[in-house]
Amino acid sequence: MMKALPIGARLTLWYLGIFALTFAGYGTAMLLAMRASVDAVIDDELRARLQGVHRMLERFDPTASLPMLQEELREHAGLRPGGDLLQVSGPDGAWLFQSRSIREYGIARASAMGTGLRYDTVGLPGQALRILSASMTVSGTEYTVQLAAPVAEARAILGRFQWLLIGSVLPVLLLACAAGFWMSRRALAPVQAITEAARLTTAHDLSRRLELPKSADELRRLTDTFNEMLARLDASFTQITRFTADASHELRTPVALVRSTAELTLRHPREAQEYREALAEILSEAERMSGLIGNLLTLARVDAGSETLSFEDVDIGSLLHQAASRCEPLAHAKQIRVERTAPGEPILARGDPRALERLFVILIDNAIRYTPEGGRVRLGVEASDGAARVTVADSGIGIPADTIPLIFERFYRVDPARSREAGGAGLGLSIARWIAEAHGASIHVASTPGEGSAFEVRLRRSGA
Ligand code: ADP
Repeated sequence: MMKALPIGARLTLWYLGIFALTFAGYGTAMLLAMRASVDAVIDDELRARLQGVHRMLERFDPTASLPMLQEELREHAGLRPGGDLLQVSGPDGAWLFQSRSIREYGIARASAMGTGLRYDTVGLPGQALRILSASMTVSGTEYTVQLAAPVAEARAILGRFQWLLIGSVLPVLLLACAAGFWMSRRALAPVQAITEAARLTTAHDLSRRLELPKSADELRRLTDTFNEMLARLDASFTQITRFTADASHELRTPVALVRSTAELTLRHPREAQEYREALAEILSEAERMSGLIGNLLTLARVDAGSETLSFEDVDIGSLLHQAASRCEPLAHAKQIRVERTAPGEPILARGDPRALERLFVILIDNAIRYTPEGGRVRLGVEASDGAARVTVADSGIGIPADTIPLIFERFYRVDPARSREAGGAGLGLSIARWIAEAHGASIHVASTPGEGSAFEVRLRRSGA
């Protein structure tokens, strides 16, 4: 099995392969084209000489004797330099004329030519010849004319060119190899930078970002994506760190209270009544703590994605009723009237009954806690075009408009001192928001400071 090569080496090899193929193809094509054009020049020359012989034969007196014809042909052959490679035979196949120079080569008479031209290239010891054979009938006599031209010189030039090409293969390929290597190195440099950055990234320097390459290409997108990933990790990590810090901070207060109450009480012997009061204090702090820990656990499970809901058709009206009953003791203690308008018929929605009840408890509990004694809270459920609308409205202190977007954040409290007194750690609404989102529901808030707040949850009705 071939071991996977690094991408840079593979790119270089591909580049080299493609370059070598192109070079070989181009070289071969060049060589063939050159040979063809050299041959064409030689063939044109031969054809021009053939026409000369033809014209000479036409001019020759047909009644004259053979020696005269031979003399005429010899003269004609000697007319132009290199034009003396000529042989002519008569209709019976006997030589009428062979120039001295062509005789040495002993070229056979072209047989069964019919009419027309034929080109041959023959390699003879010490010489290569291009031969043009033609048969022609002049004044009723049939002649076979053969003309030859040496091609050795042209072939030698082609050969040298061929060797030049072959000889340049190695240096050219070495150069291509070096260029390919350099290019792949250059192209992959940003990848190298990302690898290095990823290797060096630890939880403590998630704020680092890679420098973006100038070109708007794939590597820039990769760098961008990597930076975005770092940003998301950074945000999550900051959130987790903050959550841990806030949670510890919130837990410290009740623990400190429990401890100081116990220490103070134990300092010297006391009456039974004093012990009871101290224990009641400790119990209330412990309750607050277990509530807080419960909320923290829920949010931790939400973050881990392990908080699961099981959906069924639930009657929203009776869930709201149950939630109100749970908050009854607190309302009673603060002498707050909780008014309910019960719908005439059940309004069904798909949801997790426990989670939805918790959502309603959070809203009703807040409404009671942030409403001064003697106030009132109004609960309503109604069906409106496909939605089940639950409203929790109070006559309480209200929420300043600029903080409305913040109240769903974890640990956010409009007035920390007051909330602490009221018993909240600022987690209720963030849990409420998660429950609503998990149900595909929305929560809207309308509030006027000093007059009251109204929370509205819109759930999808089932079957609607
Ligand atoms: P907490 O546990 O502090 O109540 P929440 O997340 O439930 O935390 O609420 C966040 C903040 O929103 C509260 O501290 C309070 O300032 C404000 N808030 C929530 N509900 C009401 C309401 N009905 N009236 C006035 N303020 C509210």
